[in-house]
Amino acid sequence: MKKASVNQRECVACGVCEKNCPRQAITIFHGIYADVNEDLCIGCKRCQKTCPASVIQVVLKEAAS
Ligand code: SF4
Ligand code: SF4
Repeated sequence: MKKASVNQRECVACGVCEKNCPRQAITIFHGIYADVNEDLCIGCKRCQKTCPASVIQVVLKEAAS
């Protein structure tokens, strides 16, 4: 399953990804960086495409076994 992954050191906490996520899977943690709830993320890449800082990648994550 593909999930969004944020480079939190480079994130500028602009909130664009949070607004664009159709699953409300992203929240801005303490106004510092974007945090992805992988249980909600469906890997649609909308956040990756719209992040102005290009710090989100949608990557394959192994399911917990
Ligand atoms: S859109 Fe990009 S820079 Fe803005 S909060 Fe989301 S991850 Fe951070
Ligand atoms: S990939 Fe889609 S569902 Fe997942 S965090 Fe980004 S916008 Fe939300």
